[in-house]
Amino acid sequence: MRKGSKRLITLLTALVCSVLSFSQDADEQVLLKHFHSISSEEIAGWMADLCAPEFNGRLAGTPEYLAAAGWVADKMKEWGIKPAGDKGSYFQWFDHPYTVVNDIGALQLHIPQKDGKTIIKSYNAPADYYPGMNSGNGEVTAEVVWVGYGVSAPELNYDDYKGIDVKGKIVLMNRDVPFKDVRNPEYAKWVRYCYHQYKVENAAAHGAIGMLYIDGNSANPNISYFENMIVCGIGPGPLADIFAGLGKDNADLLQQTDKTFKPASFVTGRTMTIRANTTRHPEGKTCNVIGMIEGTDPLLKDEVIIIGGHLDAVGNAGGLLVAGGFDNASGIIDIMAAAKALAASGIKLKRTVMFLMIGGEEVGLLGSKFYTKNPVFPKDKTVTYINLDMVGNGTGLAVSASATCAGLTGYFKAANDRYIHRPMRVSTSGGSFYGRPRSDGLVFLADGFRTMSISTTDGVKPVYYHLPGDDETAVTPEIMEDVAKLIYLSFIEMGNADTLSY
Ligand SMILES: [Zn+2]
Repeated sequence: MRKGSKRLITLLTALVCSVLSFSQDADEQVLLKHFHSISSEEIAGWMADLCAPEFNGRLAGTPEYLAAAGWVADKMKEWGIKPAGDKGSYFQWFDHPYTVVNDIGALQLHIPQKDGKTIIKSYNAPADYYPGMNSGNGEVTAEVVWVGYGVSAPELNYDDYKGIDVKGKIVLMNRDVPFKDVRNPEYAKWVRYCYHQYKVENAAAHGAIGMLYIDGNSANPNISYFENMIVCGIGPGPLADIFAGLGKDNADLLQQTDKTFKPASFVTGRTMTIRANTTRHPEGKTCNVIGMIEGTDPLLKDEVIIIGGHLDAVGNAGGLLVAGGFDNASGIIDIMAAAKALAASGIKLKRTVMFLMIGGEEVGLLGSKFYTKNPVFPKDKTVTYINLDMVGNGTGLAVSASATCAGLTGYFKAANDRYIHRPMRVSTSGGSFYGRPRSDGLVFLADGFRTMSISTTDGVKPVYYHLPGDDETAVTPEIMEDVAKLIYLSFIEMGNADTLSY
């Protein structure tokens, strides 16, 4: 996929003007040769490989995820990148019980008729619902009770379950909490209640046997497992049917709750059936995949620059295969393309660079939580953790850094200005955030690491977030090539700087 000749001329001019000022420590000929070896064709090929049916959507814990982990590790080995996982391997293991969804199950509404008979309306997946990806196995038919946000927070004088009996019932609830301002320190009191996992646990604690989560009809494996709790995510269709003729509206009820902090839970009078066909694997294990290129300076090699992204995706729910192309084969393959070029160049870096392919992100950020508790290099020797999640769609680049390392964005900006010439937004993610961390980068930041992220902007393709459309065609290989080149160049600069300007 060649770019226009105009761009080539710009690039060549830039190279001539800049080779003398950029990277005095690296041999420029070598640097440029391997810069040009990074190609969108190879990237597109790897995208297809990692999105192949054999990896089955890379759900954390499954043998297919482990096969994908092996595929990445084999590549790093082939390129001469050292293992940095457990016992001299590329793998950093942790426990992760997981659930396989065997078929799409069923969602049905029972509509009583005047003659005493009942019509059953069956819904379709994924148009109307998505099977609960950590649901218990079985079938429930019960009355549906609307419980707002599904939150019981006595210390905040808020309880969606107060005065309402959900024993043996199906609860219908929304994401989030009634307090919405994640920049307000008050949010810290609410944050534990906005986790999907908490909501399932609280429903089970109140005796519910089924849960309809108004979470969008897309894959969400980040929920807690209870053997006797059948879970299903629903979209607007079934929701409208449940509310039809009740004189109430889900969005209005939430708005009112957000204003008053008074729950408005009620028994809908609707009866539904949820069927889930799942198999639980309590002994599951999963892993991060870690490789590194060791630094060569006797002192600076103890410092590490980490680039990472999640390798896992949301799997295959009974035939609804989400290959995880944009989310996040794109990030992984950006990293791999840069890693291959860095290793092949043989350019000696003073500092160590690490490639961290994270497992278990989609099931609750498990891999980044495990790494931050069990880091390969100490936190104070970690220059920065750079996160890539969904980085390969569009025409522009963006680099963001925590306030603790805002200066490091300069290395990326310089590399882009001199060699790549994409529109680039540079920002510092300042201020406080009290919400639920939704990326591996935020897990590192919360643990006190300096963090950065690279992303792509000005998207030109639709994003099928956690839906079967997210396959290898959901990315733009040309921008991925430039992301990999950006990583390659800035790692050489940061890796070799005598002192880093944070
Ligand atoms: Zn992701």
